[in-house]
Amino acid sequence: MNQFETSPARCAYCNGCGPFNDEHVFPAGLGGNDRAFLLKNIVCMNCNTGIFSKFEGVLMRKSLVSLGRIAYQPHGRTKRDAPVFEPVENGLVSDDGDLLEAGYKKGFNVAIHPQIIIYEDKIKFIATEAEELNSFFSNLEKTLNTEKTLIVEELNTGAARRYNVHTFTYSNDTFVSSETTNTSKPPKNSIWLRSIPEKTANRKPFDGILYSDRPGNLSLKLSDKTKVDRFLNAVHKALPKISKDPEHYETSITEHPLISTTFLGWSQDCDRAVAKIAFNFLIFECSPIVRDRAFAKIKRSILTGTPKLPLSLKQDDSLSGNIFARPPENHHVVLLHPLDMGKGRSALICMMLLYGTTLTSVTLAEKTSIRTLPNPVYYTIDYINHRINRLSLVEYHRRYNPDLGSFFRL
Ligand SMILES: [Zn+2]
Repeated sequence: MNQFETSPARCAYCNGCGPFNDEHVFPAGLGGNDRAFLLKNIVCMNCNTGIFSKFEGVLMRKSLVSLGRIAYQPHGRTKRDAPVFEPVENGLVSDDGDLLEAGYKKGFNVAIHPQIIIYEDKIKFIATEAEELNSFFSNLEKTLNTEKTLIVEELNTGAARRYNVHTFTYSNDTFVSSETTNTSKPPKNSIWLRSIPEKTANRKPFDGILYSDRPGNLSLKLSDKTKVDRFLNAVHKALPKISKDPEHYETSITEHPLISTTFLGWSQDCDRAVAKIAFNFLIFECSPIVRDRAFAKIKRSILTGTPKLPLSLKQDDSLSGNIFARPPENHHVVLLHPLDMGKGRSALICMMLLYGTTLTSVTLAEKTSIRTLPNPVYYTIDYINHRINRLSLVEYHRRYNPDLGSFFRL
């Protein structure tokens, strides 16, 4: 009898009693939305949505992997959901020297967000398409033309997400700060107050900039965060004039903008996300053994961040070439690999090649006496069609001809 049968309702990660929800073996947003590869009643909701989502979001939208994702993957979990890249800071300088808010869209093309910049003596409206600007304005009018305008600020509180919600009441033609509450769930139809990284703060000559980085979303950056009311008043006053006098729109920008992007690259969150994917494959492959003590350490690292995982990122093209050879286009590849350590002990490692460029390696267990996997196993993940395929070593070898011999000698 396996251990799942003796304790059926325990989370494979935290050993909690649930409730449970379906966990994708490979993240849906990275192309793994394949219903044949779901862990059902194995991962609890607290681990799945409370812990995993946060670091998975970092891997997906802020890391090196997110560059591959926006360049090669047409859509995320669903057809409507376009991959996004969220750099720490993105600067684009126009002909006039304005530092604009910009993001990236498919194919790594720069997309200038519709935005309002307020300087001490002038207001600028910038967008690349009139239609985009119109929907930005109507969203803004909707948000500002209510009795209360909510400004949300995400707090840096570590594991649990908390938000300050500042309420501004409009009366006698002016916005006045009325109250601030603290919550775990941000309200809808609000404006996000984003901070300007210290390094670039003194390069931003404006008082404030209000922009929309995705449809329906409004973000605000201020050189002085205590002056939200002043900024709201200025925008509110300017809005009716803009709709009457579209000549004042600045609707185009320079053909050769100067772009600077600061992004995260790789972090401990990325290590945890990659280790979690690796462990999910192990659960899928042989669920009973994942409760063994041999995996206590990796589970603790995934759940809490300590002990710190060894850096999982590899920069060795020949290693990738040996292990995965030439995997099919538009596929990620994962290899679960037992290694004989002698004296009846074995280790279990997982190598992963994401978007054909990012190679990672995670040790799931070191020198265990239990027999984990009898043989190496490959998974290919078609991130365009969301199809996962399991291949034995022989099958993978026949199709793609890797050179694992050199890997064993490492
Ligand atoms: Zn759990």
